[in-house]
Amino acid sequence: MGKLRLEEALRPAGRSRGGVRVPHQKNTATSQTVEMPPPERVVLPMQQHIGAACTPIVKPGEHVFLGQKIGDSGGFVSAPVHASVSGTVKAVGELLLPGGQRVKTVEIQSDGEMQPDPAIAPPKAEALSDLIEAARASGLVGLGGAGFPAHVKLTPNPGKPIDTLIVNGAECEPFITSDHREALENGADVMDGVYTLLRLTGVQRVIIAIEDNKPDAIQALYDIAASQRDTKHQVFVMPMKSRYPMGAEKVLVQNAAGREIPMGQLPADVGCLVMNITSVGFLARYLKTGMPLVSKRITVDGSAVGTPCNLRVPIGASIADVIAFCGGYREEPGKILMGGPMMGLALVDDSLPVLKQNNAILALAQRDCKPEKATACIRCGRCVAACPMGLMPTAAERQVKTGDASALEKAGVSACIECGSCAFSCPAKRPLVQSMRLAKEMVRKAASR
Ligand code: SF4
Ligand code: SF4
Repeated sequence: MGKLRLEEALRPAGRSRGGVRVPHQKNTATSQTVEMPPPERVVLPMQQHIGAACTPIVKPGEHVFLGQKIGDSGGFVSAPVHASVSGTVKAVGELLLPGGQRVKTVEIQSDGEMQPDPAIAPPKAEALSDLIEAARASGLVGLGGAGFPAHVKLTPNPGKPIDTLIVNGAECEPFITSDHREALENGADVMDGVYTLLRLTGVQRVIIAIEDNKPDAIQALYDIAASQRDTKHQVFVMPMKSRYPMGAEKVLVQNAAGREIPMGQLPADVGCLVMNITSVGFLARYLKTGMPLVSKRITVDGSAVGTPCNLRVPIGASIADVIAFCGGYREEPGKILMGGPMMGLALVDDSLPVLKQNNAILALAQRDCKPEKATACIRCGRCVAACPMGLMPTAAERQVKTGDASALEKAGVSACIECGSCAFSCPAKRPLVQSMRLAKEMVRKAASR
């Protein structure tokens, strides 16, 4: 297939408001994924998804195989957890996750063998119900960071027909290149997943949306999409403007499909299903092999990391083990982040395990994360212009101070996606995201009274 000419590419159908231009810092874009050997131990939290926590179904001393289910729940909005190494269950314990939830964990001492569960076999996927069942059994959750169970997204709502699948390959956060590498290294899997979803979900078109700072990924997927398989011309690769937060669902749907999602609603309300590109690739691999979600490609980067790279790691490996495999710390880290610099969570130390929905670990040197002193708001309005949700962060900050939950509710602060665009654009360095979090909490509390 010849080189993609831009006039051949599907153009964005709409334009969302706000957003900011962030430094891309995609230092690992050319870093081929390296396989991390099994660590001595993994710690698997029983909640790595939005929804009901799982209950451990193994006991200390029990032998487990790679891919064996070790935790499940009866809840619909939930996803089972599988052993990411073979070995012996050492303990069933508890852990405080960075989001503040205390969850049960299963710790496995690896035998170094990575022996797969002999019961593993490719599932059948002849109908949408098979696909939904398979997605649940695989333990798949949104791998772009949201952690929403995939089978829930795939379950049709008769009142909300879906006509468009948007494969989210925007990857707009600085530093992170794990989805970029999925497109380059596993493009065939992504397209297999796309055609399976096209066949079974009944959508009429698939838009693979990728920011235009990844021309090689756009070209690679375009070459596959333009092959003989797309006889009905239903699969399109759409280069998107590199503007943060293009990967946020509401922003992406508006830009890619030209449909605005009303406040409080979801992509399904405007006929769209959004799935992360690595999730789509994983789903195709699961249908071929039956091996559940036990490992994850993550970008390891930042000025304190010895050798920044893309790494496939067993889920549950400690961040300390991951960093040690990447050459250790080049210098004392001032901040360790799970995720990117815009939306990632700062960790107190590196003892936490890698979770299913993690796509990056960043360790920044102290010189790169000195807190900036906030000064008085100069009412420049940049935070308002930057907000992709059309909110007024500066007003919300004032209303939080006065405790006016009703004004906050009327202003729609619950729609805040905590993308950080407002704080990034603020010349006075106001802590606007923290204010928005407080504002959302105040509205939640007022509503539950
Ligand atoms: S963090 Fe919230 S208020 Fe700030 S720009 Fe993002 S959506 Fe808007
Ligand atoms: S960007 Fe900062 S200084 Fe400007 S209005 Fe918003 S809070 Fe005030």
